[in-house]
Amino acid sequence: MKKGEKTEVIGAVSDESDSKVDEHAQTSTGLWTKVPGQGGLSLPIDDDSEELPVERRGRKQNRPPPAKQKRKPDVDFSLDAIKEYQQSDEILSKILKLKTEQTEKPAWKDISDKSLEFKFWSARWELLEIKNGVLVMKWKEAARPAQWKVCMPGSLVDPIIWYLHDARTCGHLGIKKIYERAKLSPFYWRNMEDTVKMYVNQCDICGERKDPRFRKRHQMKSYIVGAPFEQLVTDIAGPFPVMKNKNKYILVVADYFSKLTEIYPMLDMRATTVADIIVRAWVKRYGCPTELHSDQDRQYESLIFKELCQLLEIHKTRTTSLHPRSDGMVERMNRTVNDMLSKYIKTHQRLGYAFRLYYNGL
Ligand SMILES: [Zn+2]
Repeated sequence: MKKGEKTEVIGAVSDESDSKVDEHAQTSTGLWTKVPGQGGLSLPIDDDSEELPVERRGRKQNRPPPAKQKRKPDVDFSLDAIKEYQQSDEILSKILKLKTEQTEKPAWKDISDKSLEFKFWSARWELLEIKNGVLVMKWKEAARPAQWKVCMPGSLVDPIIWYLHDARTCGHLGIKKIYERAKLSPFYWRNMEDTVKMYVNQCDICGERKDPRFRKRHQMKSYIVGAPFEQLVTDIAGPFPVMKNKNKYILVVADYFSKLTEIYPMLDMRATTVADIIVRAWVKRYGCPTELHSDQDRQYESLIFKELCQLLEIHKTRTTSLHPRSDGMVERMNRTVNDMLSKYIKTHQRLGYAFRLYYNGL
């Protein structure tokens, strides 16, 4: 259609100029007017959700950047390099010096003012030995033969755990598995289990990909309904890929009692559009509900929607911040529709198939 060309075809509002004509018609005439472009009834009240950004729903705009793999540490684990690391470490160099000078364990009065790490190594004095110029410790765990482990300074703990957790063959396994790998490695360091735990807990890749072990759930609550078409629930899904007739959103309306659900394609998600569809497509066919439930979206909180509910004497309820799942029934329907659309929409680009599928599946 050319820009500026008017049409009387129902539901065929397709460019900006047409929608401007509609707005004018709504505001300048009396109550309940016939809108040329929309082909239906609409309220003459100003729509305060007019400037709502279309891309607000769906995929989050301000997503944090994806987590990056840590770089391979530039650390040499050859015998000479390890000798150098031990010599340059403040604590291990002192232990090495003591071990070469004396055979007896240092007395408490000599080490009482020393650091925790110094006390950690001196407490294992009998297990420590110097082999090939490197400080090693005899380490034995139940049901496993004893092995000599190289004592490593704290500064090299992260590079070691990188090779156990981040390397391509390691697959970012959990704390338990990585600790088992650490025990099998030829290295030993202070607080092995705690450092592994801290490293894995702070891993960005794991934090992004892994689900919590137990998902928290809100307490279930029963919703008491009296009769069919008495209480309705509504929600908007989208934006979806644009159809031939420019529809982009879906309005889901469901009856709490009978679970009858209807889904309507929409051009936009303005309050006027939503109110118009509810009146023309639902109220005219099934009658007026006594209660209408929705989430806290701007369309439902807008003046036009409140006026509509007031006129039709509908009690308007909404989800609260503390119970965001109270419209769970319609949210679940949205998920089903979303699943179906995502499988078909790319090839057919037609909502109709999904609608039919959806009803067949009910
Ligand atoms: Zn990880």
